[in-house]
Amino acid sequence: MRGCPNGCRFCQAGYMYRPHREKDAELIIAEVDRLVTRSGYTEITLASLSTGDYSGILDLLKNLNDRYSSRGVSFSLPSLKISSFLLPILREVKVVRKTGLTFAVETPEEQWQLCLNKSTEAEKITDILKHARELGWKGAKFYFMIGLPPSFNEDEENAIVRFMQSLYAQVPMNYTVNVGTFVPKPHTPYQWAPMLDEREAFRRAMYIKKSLSKRFFKVSFHDTFQSFLEAMISRGDERAGDIIEKAFRAGAVLDAWEEHLDKNAWRSAIETADWDVAAETLTGRSFEKPLPWDVIDLHVASGFLAKEREKSLKGELTGACEEPCGHNCGSCRGERSIRQAGRNAEPGTGTGASQPDGDCVKYLFSFKKLDAAVYLSHLNLVRIFERAFIRSGFQPCYSEGFNPQPKIEFAQPLSLGVETHGDMCAVELKGNPGCAELERACNSALPEGIGITSIRALPANPDGRKPPSLMSLYAGSDYTVQPDGTSSGLSLEKVAEKLEGYFTRKNITNCGVSAGAEFLEVKIRPHSEGRGNILAILREALDTDEPLGLGLSVARTRMWAGTGGKGEADYFSVFNV
Ligand code: SF4
Repeated sequence: MRGCPNGCRFCQAGYMYRPHREKDAELIIAEVDRLVTRSGYTEITLASLSTGDYSGILDLLKNLNDRYSSRGVSFSLPSLKISSFLLPILREVKVVRKTGLTFAVETPEEQWQLCLNKSTEAEKITDILKHARELGWKGAKFYFMIGLPPSFNEDEENAIVRFMQSLYAQVPMNYTVNVGTFVPKPHTPYQWAPMLDEREAFRRAMYIKKSLSKRFFKVSFHDTFQSFLEAMISRGDERAGDIIEKAFRAGAVLDAWEEHLDKNAWRSAIETADWDVAAETLTGRSFEKPLPWDVIDLHVASGFLAKEREKSLKGELTGACEEPCGHNCGSCRGERSIRQAGRNAEPGTGTGASQPDGDCVKYLFSFKKLDAAVYLSHLNLVRIFERAFIRSGFQPCYSEGFNPQPKIEFAQPLSLGVETHGDMCAVELKGNPGCAELERACNSALPEGIGITSIRALPANPDGRKPPSLMSLYAGSDYTVQPDGTSSGLSLEKVAEKLEGYFTRKNITNCGVSAGAEFLEVKIRPHSEGRGNILAILREALDTDEPLGLGLSVARTRMWAGTGGKGEADYFSVFNV
């Protein structure tokens, strides 16, 4: 869905994307099918500004679960407006994976809620949480804003603390509380409103953080200086452009990432401006004077916004957008109108198109990861294999519990930057596919640089005992170390010497290095210093943080499995396949 029918008076997106238009269920199902079969996704968010208001959301969820739950595909909904929170939605959402439970309450007092054009009874929240806990949820997330017009001059920080404490008293769960500073946004009924200054916003947010016990609550708040910047940029006129340029030239980039936000660059640009940036940004605007953004027409009449502001002062609600519209904002005209979704999607068949069923069969396979693929992390690799199997039409088996994961296991994660010609992995799949077909199909679905080199099905243990995990059998690896062709100045002889020195110093006897003309062969076995991470050993032996930065490339050539004290062998032999 684009847009939202609700018209919360602080929400710019709610006015900007009017009128709301829903996508037909048929089209959504076709898009989900493409995401699952062509991309292999198993976690899909049904996104919009207010998904709970998508008409037929329950039928759609049921239909999608009927089609995809057996394939381990889960559907989550972004934060839902509480009044449209039907428990059946919760039940459908949790069918495969219980996704986060998020409540955008914004302000704690019901009278303040009405001013925002929201109505959320605290009892309703408690009811929903009680049911959610019965359905297995352990926690929930709450969003609040400080400095909203109805509570600007109120003791809102204490009200938020009381609200959360009372909730915990009624429904003890792990609560995450996120506090943001309200920024009066253009093209909303609150565009004329004042804003809290940084110091006061920080004081209120810190009070909430300190007052809610860390044992039951995890409180975080949006950087109050960043909120001030958002306000300066969103309600500033041309002069704000000069400050942006000045800050950029002083080094400000990636400001949306708190770790990169260069406050000094911004503060100096603001302090050297020839106008009082803070005062003009934070102060309420006059109704008589033109606003900098009046040059932009979002089809919502300013008269409508002014009336909505009046209603906010009285705590009067305005109904949701519907046809016929009883409170024309000016957005629906001509072809522009609300669009309801068509509901004529074929019902799901409960198994999902042609999905293999039956027991899980475990497959052991070796794979290569070369060239640019070395920069894909281990977690990426798990997802890449899961998706490659799904895109190839095979069905991974999933673990039980709160967050089912594909049954894929690796003998030992490979460090970022290290190549491999034969890492070992195992996957459980439904439907008993043939190994040749598996290898062919998956290799055409895997990204460049990654490929299955050999795959065998593991026979089920006659006594039903689970086979040992690959990691429990891990007995070590062989590597090659060679120059990567960039100038490094560190000769292979030097590397070999330092490695030997390291093994001797650490009294490690089951590891070794042998020098070849163009590369070193390094044998690493678990030892007193650890399970044998090649990069960790090179870091210490070469006394550098970045061994791969020294013009060396490292590749794992073989992995060995223990045979219960009788030496080591390759994994396929240990599993007799
Ligand atoms: S004209 Fe009415 S229905 Fe259309 S967007 Fe505005 S308020 Fe909503």
